[in-house]
Amino acid sequence: MGVKISTFQLNMLGAMIFILLFVSYGINSFTVNVLAQKQLSEFEIELSDINVQLSELATELNEWQTLSNSYKEQIQLFMQQKEEMKEELEVQNQDIEKKKQKLLEKQKLIEELKQKIESFEFQAIKIQNQRTLTQFFSRYPSVPSGEKTIFLTFDDGPMHITLEVLEILKEHEVTATFFIVGNLAENRPDIVRKTYNEGHAVLAHTYTHDYRIYTSFDTFYEDLHKVQQVIHNILGKVPPPIFRFAGGAGNHVSRQYGGRDFMPRLTQDVKEKGYYYIEWNVSARDTSVPRPDKDLMTQIVLEGCYNKDYVVALFHDINSNTALVKALPLIITELKERGYVFRTFRDITQAELNKMQRLGIANTSVQ
Ligand SMILES: [Zn+2]
Repeated sequence: MGVKISTFQLNMLGAMIFILLFVSYGINSFTVNVLAQKQLSEFEIELSDINVQLSELATELNEWQTLSNSYKEQIQLFMQQKEEMKEELEVQNQDIEKKKQKLLEKQKLIEELKQKIESFEFQAIKIQNQRTLTQFFSRYPSVPSGEKTIFLTFDDGPMHITLEVLEILKEHEVTATFFIVGNLAENRPDIVRKTYNEGHAVLAHTYTHDYRIYTSFDTFYEDLHKVQQVIHNILGKVPPPIFRFAGGAGNHVSRQYGGRDFMPRLTQDVKEKGYYYIEWNVSARDTSVPRPDKDLMTQIVLEGCYNKDYVVALFHDINSNTALVKALPLIITELKERGYVFRTFRDITQAELNKMQRLGIANTSVQ
């Protein structure tokens, strides 16, 4: 037997199912609603956080923008300043360039003036030397030409031995020439005055007799002017521009100071300035080692004079040259007998200096 289900029952069942479904749906949708609400409120909180962060970021961005703007302005200012400085620098550079140019021109002018002054100084020395010489020259030599002539010359004094030499010359009534050393003369001005007062010529040799004077033209002329000044001071007269080089014009010692061509250049300059430098054509060789004794010195000088009727003889009045004062009387006596006339540079003439140049005794050219 089967269960008979009426339409009513069916309807009821359907309605119950419907109700059930509805209720379950209602429960479900309520639960969903509650969850969604919760989520929504969480989202809202998150959103408001994000909003806060966003507004913070906006503020920060604003600050950065302000800062960046101010940097931009500063950079622009710097650029402007840089441009201005560039221009200023350019102007200054131009100014410096102009000043440099002016300085160069001035330097050139100074150089030209220096050269002019040097040439004036050169001319002044030359004119002064010529004037002194003209005043110094004798118009006529004290000996007629054609006579045998000798100039006795003594270098490197004054020393004690000079006094002995002066005695011998006085005894034999002859006069001579003394090329003196300035620093010795300063110690014995009395000997220099006595020499001059007894009729001898006193001329410059060197102030120091130190070969370092041959380092440069300046060192040489400084030394020469110094000894000339010493003579001027002691005798009260400007000495003539006639001197003898320390070591002679052809000395080689100077090469280690001024070089190989120093004496050739110096002698040329000295001549151009109107000086006369006196060499010799007979030497007593009394500075050689060993020194000659009385007999040898007499022999050397007398043989040297042989066949020469125009002699400039070189001696050294230095204390250690003791043979000098023994040989000198013999030499003078013999030369007198041979007919020599004794001359000095004190009454020299231009013609005589010219003759000395021809004979290679004065202003010789040095190679
Ligand atoms: Zn000397």
